[in-house]
Amino acid sequence: MSDSAPPPAATRLTVDLDALVGNWRTLQAFAPAAETAAMVKADAYGLGADRVVPALARAGCRTFFAAFPDEALAVREAAPGARVFVLAGLFEETAMGFIEHRLVPVLNRREDLAVWRRTAARSGRRLACALHFDTGMNRLGLAVDEAGDIAAAIAAEPGLEPALVMSHLACADEPGHRLNAAQKARFDAVRARFPGVAASLANSAAILTDPGFAYDLTRPGIALYGGEAVNRSAGPMMPVATFEARILQLRRARKGETVGYGATTTLARDSVLAIAGVGYADGYLRAASGAGVPQRQLGAGASGAIAGRPVPVVGRISMDATAFDVTDLPDRVLASAAWIELIGETIGLDDFARAAGTIGYEVLTRIGPRAERRYVGGGTTPA
Ligand SMILES: *Cc1c(COP(=O)(O)O)cnc(C)c1O
Repeated sequence: MSDSAPPPAATRLTVDLDALVGNWRTLQAFAPAAETAAMVKADAYGLGADRVVPALARAGCRTFFAAFPDEALAVREAAPGARVFVLAGLFEETAMGFIEHRLVPVLNRREDLAVWRRTAARSGRRLACALHFDTGMNRLGLAVDEAGDIAAAIAAEPGLEPALVMSHLACADEPGHRLNAAQKARFDAVRARFPGVAASLANSAAILTDPGFAYDLTRPGIALYGGEAVNRSAGPMMPVATFEARILQLRRARKGETVGYGATTTLARDSVLAIAGVGYADGYLRAASGAGVPQRQLGAGASGAIAGRPVPVVGRISMDATAFDVTDLPDRVLASAAWIELIGETIGLDDFARAAGTIGYEVLTRIGPRAERRYVGGGTTPA
């Protein structure tokens, strides 16, 4: 190690930009008549917007969605020529920043319309916006029964240029859910009020399950990043994120001894344990410990993998360390093992998520800042 090199991290997150771009192309093929945008909120689902956005832009993605203005700024820097929508965060005091950085606000409330109209008047420009209607989720969005009034107000308002009319499905991950059809019917009624304006309804799950949801523009997120969009269906997506932890110590423990905080696991045989430098502070969620965490009723805990062989978590995941049972690994495999795969080719993102009682979205967005970020593919090689 040279004097200037940072000390090596105990965890690393490798993002495969070729797999990311491949997933974007696959989603484009599912909705060939629509434009495939990319949802890059929360730093591209934790994988790094500064690398994810340029890779997608190079592949031909022209439209990105961020959650808030500060995130959108990073997207704007990463893709100077792209169209960047911002899902929320338009206020009187932030409005001029939207213009300065060419960000397009998604209008969710009547007040947002008023703010953007005043901003257009002040700047003397015609300003693009997206109109987001709430068709049944009761989260953000304009009321469906006000669509007529809003259409009339916009028609009378030369300063506003609606670029998109959109809504979001509550249950797209459950293809048969009755709310999907109900939301689509309401969306069709809203959309009819805005002839000539591009329409957008589909998230990842909707793209993969029903071409009728595609409309003019799709907004995939999780499927780009290799996560499961439709419940319990891996789908055609390639894994994008590999999360690994360094083995810090191998130890032999005897049958009858216990492992970790709370002494919750008693070894049923003489065992070899690999102690890895990862814990819940890194987003390796404590709830994935399996038996032994109070309040948690689920059975089996998570597994890591070494050389493609699963190695189960033993005892409780702690803040910075986790024990894995490597007793069954051949000595020669163990002798050369330096890292444990936590999520990747062998241990699916959503399998780990299920062990923790959550979803891949939460797992990805929780991977902590201690992990070294590495990028492969997309014309780059890891450092
Ligand atoms: C997050 C989000 C998406 C993307 O959803 P995925 O399930 O990740 O594909 C699309 N639209 C809106 C409004 C969102 O908030």
